[in-house]
Parts: sequence; structure tokens; C-alpha cells
Amino acid sequence: MIASVLPTYNRAPLTFVRGEGSWLFESDGRRFLDMGAGIAVNALGHAHPALVAALHAQAQDLWHVSNLYQIPQQQALADALVDRTFADTVFFTNSGTEAAELAIKMVRKYWFEKGEDRLTILTFDGAFHGRSTAAIAAAGSDKMTRGFGPLMPGFKVLPWNDPEALDAALDDSVAAVMIEPVQGEGGIRPVPESQLKALRAACDRTGALLVLDEVQCGMGRTGRLFAHEWAGIAPDIMMVAKGIGGGFPLGAVLATERAAAGMVAGTHGSTYGGNPLACAVGLKVMEIIADPAFLDEVNRKAGLLRQKLEGLIAAHPDTFEGVRGSGLMLGLTCRKPNTELVSAARDAGVLVVPAADNVIRLIPALNIPDDDLAEAVSRLDQAAAGLETA
Ligand SMILES: *Cc1c(COP(=O)(O)O)cnc(C)c1O
Repeated sequence: MIASVLPTYNRAPLTFVRGEGSWLFESDGRRFLDMGAGIAVNALGHAHPALVAALHAQAQDLWHVSNLYQIPQQQALADALVDRTFADTVFFTNSGTEAAELAIKMVRKYWFEKGEDRLTILTFDGAFHGRSTAAIAAAGSDKMTRGFGPLMPGFKVLPWNDPEALDAALDDSVAAVMIEPVQGEGGIRPVPESQLKALRAACDRTGALLVLDEVQCGMGRTGRLFAHEWAGIAPDIMMVAKGIGGGFPLGAVLATERAAAGMVAGTHGSTYGGNPLACAVGLKVMEIIADPAFLDEVNRKAGLLRQKLEGLIAAHPDTFEGVRGSGLMLGLTCRKPNTELVSAARDAGVLVVPAADNVIRLIPALNIPDDDLAEAVSRLDQAAAGLETA
């Protein structure tokens, strides 16, 4: 008999009833150090007092109104994002997938309005843009698309980290290039800054729009508000979600005026997108994370974690191969199956997330205390030692 919850997930046998900072608790009081943060969602940890207060305050006044009316919280969050980024305009969604959907629609509408037949969006091996019919077609992996055809046309998946293949494919028939500055699901694979710069230049040359998927690597994760800032470039369109709501479902598409020009009244919409509750929380998240002093701390913590992970790798050369990534978005490449490491870590009381390419992801809350970082690495050390003696 099928489970009453559609069985599309492989769930660990853990049930959390409470969270506080970087810790999750089961009902019997057993606690786990959360280095996964709901897959980079709980950017400020669990039950951050300022977020709880923002949610409470808004909940007492007004939960939801339709986008048929003015929503001041939405306006304020859009203004804050426009203020701090390349973007001139923002559309709010409830998820990263919905942000991908709009980004793709926006690209198509841009070329439609120009009266040009440019329909191909270039994407990359190992990409993840969500699970909608468009987003699986964009990523193109067999694992996600098998059985769900016919796939939406208009995407061409290129090998990852192959500048020559990109050069050959990116001519002036291409509508857009869509890429994660740091691949998340694909195994914490950063695009080198020089390649992002070259990609921006190639898009400028051919007119193709540059669409960045910063759903996982954005919102302070890499130590800048958005990951592309490290390369000193700006996209035309950017997808954001995960961390932006700190755990409340919220996503966004940011765009330049030029890229968004075709998206006039009636061309897109969402019942819940940008509702008062989500935006009240998002505004508080933004206020905290966009503070340069907060981002400095993310960078300092990232250095600390990376240094401790180098020590861990040196202590367990048969278990770990190396560390890669950016800021507090780090991946340990493993010499043992990553799923075994994830469960050994869980047994040692630390939660990590597997990714492709036999990686375990460390994507903790951006405000994780130094002591918790040290504790996490010590528990990973215990987990590795356990696997080695087993
Ligand atoms: C998680 C993720 C998505 C999809 O976001 P959902 O909120 O799960 O729909 C898209 N792109 C990237 C890079 C992601 O990590």
C-alpha cells in the first residue's frame, strides 16, 4: 500500500520537534548539530528571536492579501533588494523552482518583444534549478527527467567547466545562459571567477541574457550578499530563494529594467508570492544578512571552518579527499560513499547533506557560533574514525 505521504523522499529516521540556533532536538531531548540548515534555508539558524518577532508581529495584523492590492512589506523588501544589488525590479515567489520558471519566461518574453527568434537557453551538467517541467528540462539529468517526457524544448546542456564548449555554443542565436555561480546539488562546484567574467563578456558580445541561479549560493552564503559579486560581474536576471526567507517559504526573481521590459501587467502572477507574512520575515532576514559587518563574520567563520576541515582531511586521508566551495558553502569530497558518511555523521550527532560527485555538504547557519563549528568538525572526526575501524 502506498504511504499516505507520497513516497518521493528518502527520509532519515529522525523527527525533530524543536530547533534553536544551529541545534535540532528530538522529543527525547537528543540533539543534533545542524550543518545542513534545511539545505541552506535556515540562514540565521532555528528560531532566531528577531525572525520569530517579525513573524509574530505580522501574524497579529495580517497574514495574506492578494496581489490585487498594495503590499507594503513586499514593496519594502523589493526596495531593499534593488538598493543592494544590480537589479531594478523584483518579483516574489514561494520557491526556487517558481523563480526558475519566471526567469525562463522572462528570457522568452524578452526575445519575443524584440521580435527575434532566439529560443535556446544554455545550461550546464550537474545543474539544479528545481523540479518543475521547465526546471528539469533545464538541468537535463537523466535522474530527474526519466519518465517525465516529452521535455520542454529550448535548453542545451553543456559540459560543466568547459570554456571551449561554451565558446562554441554561445553564438548570437542563444537567448540566455543560465548558471549557478556555485553548483549546490551538483557537488559544491564553484565556477572560477575568471570564467564568470568571460561568460559575462561573451553574453555582452552576443546579446544573450545572463541568468544566475543563486537560490543556494546567494543571500550571504559565500560571504558576499550574492556570489557573483566576488567576480565583479552582474547578471541580467537572478533567481533567489532558500536563505531569503530564513525558513519561511519565499523566493524572488531579480532583474534589470531591460531584461524585465516584456513583463507587463497580466504576464505573470502568483497567489501567495510576496505575501505579507513572507515579506515581513524576508525583510528582517535581509536587514541582518545585508549588513557588511555580518558578511565579514561569515567570511571569518568560513576561514575557520575551512581550516578545521583541512585538519580533518589530513587526519582521515582514506575517508576524505579534499574541500571545495566558497564561504559557508563547503563540500568535502569523499573517498568512501558519501551516504555512509552522512549516516555515520548522523550517528555522531551532526547533520550534513549529500551532494553529487560523492560530496558531503556543509552549509550551516551563517551565524553559527565558532564553538559549534569546532563541535561539528569534532563530531565529523568521530564519524570518520568510526567508519575506519568498522
Ligand atoms: C533548491 C534549489 C532550487 C529549487 O528551489 P525549490 O525552493 O526547492 O523549488 C533551484 N536552484 C538551486 C540552485 C537550488 O539549490
